[in-house]
Amino acid sequence: MQTTLVIIKPSGIQREIAGEIISRFEKKGLIIAGMKMMRLTEKLLREHYAHLVERPFFPLLLKSMMATPVIVMAIKGVDAVEVVRAITGVTNARKALPGTIRGDFGMSGQENIVHASDSPENAAIEIARFFSADEVFDYTPLVLPALYSPDELNA
Ligand code: UDP
Ligand code: MG
Repeated sequence: MQTTLVIIKPSGIQREIAGEIISRFEKKGLIIAGMKMMRLTEKLLREHYAHLVERPFFPLLLKSMMATPVIVMAIKGVDAVEVVRAITGVTNARKALPGTIRGDFGMSGQENIVHASDSPENAAIEIARFFSADEVFDYTPLVLPALYSPDELNA
């Protein structure tokens, strides 16, 4: 199984839809392996958004991501990175499909409610960036046999 990082951004916190967002991942059959509330610092955000630091909108993105505390989640499942990106929707929430989190709840390319890791490699780096090892839990939900066939679980 893969574990991927989701951040409920200040836009999601301000809109008071954190519960709805968590619920969508739970109902899909993904496992919450870690979850906490934290305030993001400029130092952490410069690492997390290193690919964007030179972009003109970066100062606004920094301000946006530090506007309130965020909720970070480690979310686990078979192909979790791809599944969670699909549930999240494309970056610009105005273009995101209805049924996705960004498509259903957002109107902005910046204030787009959630972050989700974009590859298994980045997911591993991002989980380690936001969680210490003892904050990500390994447990077996009783529902697993109803979620996956045995060969999917052993792959
Ligand atoms: N972002 C922005 N303006 C842009 C592109 C991105 O404000 O033109 C913000 C937006 O909040 C986005 C984040 O920067 O979610 C990270 O950008 P990325 O391209 O990695 O998109 P994501 O992976 O979040 O879909
Ligand atoms: Mg990204």
